[in-house]
Amino acid sequence: MKINPHLHGLHGVALLHNPLLNKGTAFTEAERDAFGLRGLLPTRVITQEQQLARVLETVRNKPTDLERYIYLISLQERNEALFYRLVTDHVTEMMPLIYTPTVGLACQRYALIFRRPRGLFIGLRDRGRVKQILQNWPHADVRMIVVTDGERILGLGDLGTNGMGIPVGKLSLYTACAGVAPDQCMPVMLDVGTNNQAMLDDPHYLGAAHRRERGPAYDELVAEFITSVQAIFPLACIQFEDFGNANAFRLLHEYRDQVCTFNDDIQGTAAVALAGIYSALRITGGSLANQRFLFLGAGEAGIGIGELMVEALKAEGVTEADARRQCWYVDSKGLVVAGRTDLTAHKRPFAHDHPGAATLLAAVEALKPTMLIGVSGMPSAFVEPVVRAMARLNPNPVIFALSNPTSKAECTAEQAYTWSDGRAVFASGSPFPAFEFKGRTYLPGQGNNAYIFPGVGLGIIASQAQRVTEEMFSVAANVLASLVTGEDLAVGRVYPDLQRIREVSAAIACAVAQVAFRRGLTRMLCPEDLPAHVQAQMYDPTYPDYV
Ligand code: NAD
Repeated sequence: MKINPHLHGLHGVALLHNPLLNKGTAFTEAERDAFGLRGLLPTRVITQEQQLARVLETVRNKPTDLERYIYLISLQERNEALFYRLVTDHVTEMMPLIYTPTVGLACQRYALIFRRPRGLFIGLRDRGRVKQILQNWPHADVRMIVVTDGERILGLGDLGTNGMGIPVGKLSLYTACAGVAPDQCMPVMLDVGTNNQAMLDDPHYLGAAHRRERGPAYDELVAEFITSVQAIFPLACIQFEDFGNANAFRLLHEYRDQVCTFNDDIQGTAAVALAGIYSALRITGGSLANQRFLFLGAGEAGIGIGELMVEALKAEGVTEADARRQCWYVDSKGLVVAGRTDLTAHKRPFAHDHPGAATLLAAVEALKPTMLIGVSGMPSAFVEPVVRAMARLNPNPVIFALSNPTSKAECTAEQAYTWSDGRAVFASGSPFPAFEFKGRTYLPGQGNNAYIFPGVGLGIIASQAQRVTEEMFSVAANVLASLVTGEDLAVGRVYPDLQRIREVSAAIACAVAQVAFRRGLTRMLCPEDLPAHVQAQMYDPTYPDYV
């Protein structure tokens, strides 16, 4: 009898309680005999398909999305293969439950719905012993780390340690969308306090109940974390997630040329938005060089998109100065222009000589943008006069309301289509349902980073890349856009059907790995058959035979 080597001698209840190996009622008769499971399970042997039907029914019968989230996390905690089978096979239905928008609510209620810890928590008092803490992690071959300090969770602001739901959810998407093996993923919370008074006042709050550290101790902790990861998990990529504005840009610039790292809020968002813009151009018929982009929000997402856009325009022969002049920003103080004295470093390259504009509507009228992109976290900021002005100025106004969760979207799909008389090309950050207008059905696209980061991560893992470059995000955007079909565009969708996400991620991974090999960023040789090599890395949530 050949025993599956991954079982590491596990037996009986210990096997049933191991989420990576557990099959529950699907353990076969032979496996029940081989692993001391006889008597520990109900009599009938069930297939994974039957289990899948049962858990799907259970999820659907839950009264609220938060209850669905709690159920799904508990399933993940006891049977990863079944959890990933469910999420992979029903990704369109499950993604909003394990990620945005539901994960936002789950983070806000983190202490109340907390059952079992998931991920690694590292605090200020752990300085000097971060390596030891990483060694407590139960898996040795960590390849993808998502780390947050909880300061800017989605568009919800500072949630402190409650933000752990985000790395957990994001890594679930690495596995579900790109097949990064669950035991190669590690969620991390750098708990440096919170400035959220409601959290500090909450007796149930589980994090360090003091105000956020802003001094050298913060940088020391981040630096020790990075060097410790390199020592303990040398092949790991570190994805920074939902850090506040100032730290996000600063840390990216500090570490991007030193270690394998990227910031998804800045770079992943940029790639998904750029892909949506390429697709939108197939509907509007223009070229990138002839567009004028107006962003509401000049933070990580907005500036990240602008910077990648500049690279894309330069690749089309536009000079850097001209490319920057195609990108305009409105932030909380109005139009970002050269005359302003309150601009942070990341906004200045996009501050052009121009009179100011106090409102978004005034900026739209003055600049006549072809594309309006909402990344402000300001709900309902695309008011009717703004959308109507865009529709007056453009035959097909491109309107992306990318802020998450749904409650933060700058406008709804219904508003964009109705106020533009059905002419808008619309995408959002969180999903909106199909919308009927004047006999036509629109399926709004979700400009979800999940189209990009899982594939980028898989490409990095498959090539053992030592750096993550802007070029990788450019190629990822191009690959994603190339997979949008004529049928997608016909219903107004500027992204591929989410059900194709694993195919999308595999294609992005190949392109990213090619960049890594071409630029000499890896320690291994390029495999002869790269697509087959990438496929071979992808975790399959189908139960293997253990006997
Ligand atoms: P951020 O905090 O870095 O930036 C927010 C920006 O919005 C800042 O420049 C701020 O000045 C501006 N702003 C705030 N209030 C404003 C107002 N009233 N009018 C105009 N501008 C205002 O945050 P971020 O990382 O850039 O994220 C912004 C939003 O984009 C969030 O809701 C986030 O969830 C969303 N986002 C979506 C995706 C996606 O996949 N669709 C990806 C990343 C971020």
